[in-house]
Amino acid sequence: MEAKTKDLWVYIETKEDGSAKSVGLELLNPGRDLADKQGGALTAIVIGEHVEEAVRAASFYGADKVIAVDGPEFKNYTTDAYTAALYYLIEKYGPTTLLIGATPDGRDMGPRLSCRLKTGLTADCTALDIDTESGNVAWTRPAFGGNLMATIICPDFRPQIGTVRPGVFKKKPSGEDKAEVHYEDFHVAEEDIHTRLLEVIRDAAEEIVNLEDADIIVSGGRGVGGPEGFKPVKALADVLGATVGSSRAAVDAGWISHAHQVGQTGKTVAPKLYIACGISGAIQHLAGMSGSDCIVAINKDPDAPIFDVADYGIVGDLFEVLPALTEEIKKLKS
Ligand SMILES: Cc1cc2nc3c(=O)[nH]c(=O)nc-3n(C[C@H](O)[C@H](O)[C@H](O)COP(=O)(O)OP(=O)(O)OC[C@H]3O[C@@H](n4cnc5c(N)ncnc54)[C@H](O)[C@@H]3O)c2cc1C
Repeated sequence: MEAKTKDLWVYIETKEDGSAKSVGLELLNPGRDLADKQGGALTAIVIGEHVEEAVRAASFYGADKVIAVDGPEFKNYTTDAYTAALYYLIEKYGPTTLLIGATPDGRDMGPRLSCRLKTGLTADCTALDIDTESGNVAWTRPAFGGNLMATIICPDFRPQIGTVRPGVFKKKPSGEDKAEVHYEDFHVAEEDIHTRLLEVIRDAAEEIVNLEDADIIVSGGRGVGGPEGFKPVKALADVLGATVGSSRAAVDAGWISHAHQVGQTGKTVAPKLYIACGISGAIQHLAGMSGSDCIVAINKDPDAPIFDVADYGIVGDLFEVLPALTEEIKKLKS
C-alpha cells in the first residue's frame, strides 16, 4: 500500500470502560518526536465503546488528531472486529507509520493487520528513530536472547508497523487539549466476528501487581534465598508504598509469581526508584529496568554487574541491610 500522508499513527488501546491503557499514551511521546522529524501529524487511533475519556487523554498527551471508532462490538477486544476497523482506517487515510503497544491484544492484532496489509511489522521494540529523508523508522529490539540489539527497517512497504513494550517510554502530557477529533462511523456485523468473549477470569496476582505504573519498586532476586527471603523485601516495599518486583531466577525457583518478574521476558518498568536486592544484574534483567530514574543495588558481591548501572550501591548482606533501611525509613516517616 502507498502511504497517502506523512502522518504517524499511535493505536490507543482501551479498557472495557472505554478509558485508555497507559501504553498507547506512552507511545505518543516517541510518536511526537518521530512525527515532528517526518513532518506529519501525530494521530491517535482510539477503538472501543464509550471512548470519550480515551479520546480526551490522547489529546492531552499530545496527539494532533484523534480518529475514534466507537460501538458496542468494540467493548471487548476481538481480533476480527479490531483488525477490520484498523484495516478500514488505514486503507482510507494511508498513514506512513503505526505504533502499537506490545500487550497481549496488541501482539495479536499487529501481525494480523500487517499480514492483511502485506507490510512489515517489527515486534517488541525498545527504541525508535527515523531517517528523515526516506521516512524509514529504525525499529530497535533485543535479539539473540537479549545479547545484542537489532535495528530493523521496512523500506519497501507502508505503513511500517511496530509493537513497543509497555513501560519503555514515559507518558508526557502536552499540557494542552486541542486535538482535532473525528468519530468514524464504522461498524462490524455480528456474523463477521467469529469469536465470543464468554467470561473474564482475572488472575488475582496480575490484578494487584501493577509494576508498569509503580513509582517505586523493590525487587528481590536469587540472593533472597527462598520464598521467606521476600519478607524483608516486602517490608521495605510496604514502608515506601512500593510494588514488589523480582528477577526471573526467583520466579523460576517458584518463590514468587511471574506477575512480579521484571526483565526481557517479564515487565519493562521505569519507576522513579528501583531497589534491586540480591540481583546480579544480568542483561535480561537490565533490559526491563535500566530506564528507572534512580537505581539502588544491594548485593554482597562488590563485583556484581548491577553496580555498573546503579546510582547508589550498598555492598552487604540484604538480610542486614533491608531491615536497617526499613527501620530508618519508618523513623523518618514518624
Ligand atoms: C531468553 C532469556 C530471557 C530472560 N529473561 C529474564 C527476565 O525477564 N528477567 C530476569 O531477571 N532474568 C531473565 N533471564 C535470566 C537472567 O539471565 C539471569 O539468570 C537472572 O536475571 C538472574 O537472576 P538473579 O540476579 O536473581 O540471580 P543471580 O544471577 O544468581 O544473582 C544473585 C545475586 O544475589 C547476590 N546475593 C546472594 N546472597 C545475597 C545476600 N544475602 N545479600 C545480598 N546479595 C546476595 C549474589 O551476589 C548475586 O549477585 C533471562 C534469560 C534468558 C536466557
